[in-house]
Amino acid sequence: MTLLLTTSDVVSLIERQTLPRLLGQLEQAIHDDFLHWQEFDKSARLAAHSPNGVIELMPVSNDRLYSFKYVNGHPKNPRLGLPTVMAFGALADIATGKPLLISELTLTTALRTAATSVMAARALARKDASSMALIGNGAQSEFQALAFHHLLGIDELRVYDIDPEATHKLADNLAAAPDLHIIFANSTAAAVRGADIVTTVTADKAYATILTPEMVEPGMHLNAVGGDCPGKTELHRAILNNALTFVEFEPQSRIEGDIQQMSADFPVTELWRVLSGEASGRIEASDITIFDSVGFALEDYSALRLLYEHANQQGIGRDVALIPELQDPRNLYSIIQAQVAIQE
Ligand code: NAD
Repeated sequence: MTLLLTTSDVVSLIERQTLPRLLGQLEQAIHDDFLHWQEFDKSARLAAHSPNGVIELMPVSNDRLYSFKYVNGHPKNPRLGLPTVMAFGALADIATGKPLLISELTLTTALRTAATSVMAARALARKDASSMALIGNGAQSEFQALAFHHLLGIDELRVYDIDPEATHKLADNLAAAPDLHIIFANSTAAAVRGADIVTTVTADKAYATILTPEMVEPGMHLNAVGGDCPGKTELHRAILNNALTFVEFEPQSRIEGDIQQMSADFPVTELWRVLSGEASGRIEASDITIFDSVGFALEDYSALRLLYEHANQQGIGRDVALIPELQDPRNLYSIIQAQVAIQE
């Protein structure tokens, strides 16, 4: 049998763990797996581009488990009543190929992206960071805000979106976190001014310049989440020229990240090297650091293995007969034999 986790199952898991705890566990799980970076068989994700968006397949494996995620990115979807990002995925036993888990990953992508953002900021941002600008207040934004608040102690959030309705939705949802002080800005520049961390999580299939050089101040950490596809960026290239840039899996980030604007030899550091102590992150308090996030398969692997562990421990989800159960594994025909006999 294969365990199936639907969206409501993942909601149940969040209820039982609490959101801050689950986000913390996710950060830890991703961190642990990033420390075993060399043991994973990695590749840039496979993308099918169309005029409105992209559909991507993201596999990764080690000597124990294999996982993949199916995910899309269609920025115009909300106008059609659909999320911009939708996802599901699977975890399988590498020794037999048996699928162990099929899970929703739309909600889980928002959780793991926020946990990864915090993991990067914990390694790269100034230790005294207490304020964050959040540009783009759509589906991912609450998760980013709450992860930074609960896990990194961010207590001031400056919010801006070109669509004021998105910002109202974000503020309503964050009312449950009364210690998080929200400042409403009337432009990206106003939101960013004086912030310690800047998270950009906008969606537009364009070479957008959400941040321009004059907005960026010494000592800032930029968590650039929305530029994650060829032809879809958020940072002016001059910002990259004046900063230290960190990425997940370099071959994928060169194609999809904000660094797609730069030459092939533009210097970047893979984040796992900072986490393992092999490379330095921020050197001076005045450095500008950038996490050029695109989302990497290993983060979904970590999320899937954590969900699988929790669901098994807590009896959440249901077993489905995705693979035929056969007395003689070579007699696949046996499961249709009776049916065929009846039809004759
Ligand atoms: P969404 O469509 O729900 O929200 C995007 C928001 O950005 C909207 O509210 C929109 O009005 C706003 N926006 C667009 N252009 C803007 C601009 N110029 N200035 C300010 N706001 C602007 O999308 P979402 O699910 O929140 O995803 C946001 C982005 O994050 C997408 O581009 C998605 O592909 C990306 N993403 C990245 C990762 C990752 O791991 N790096 C993971 C998930 C999503």
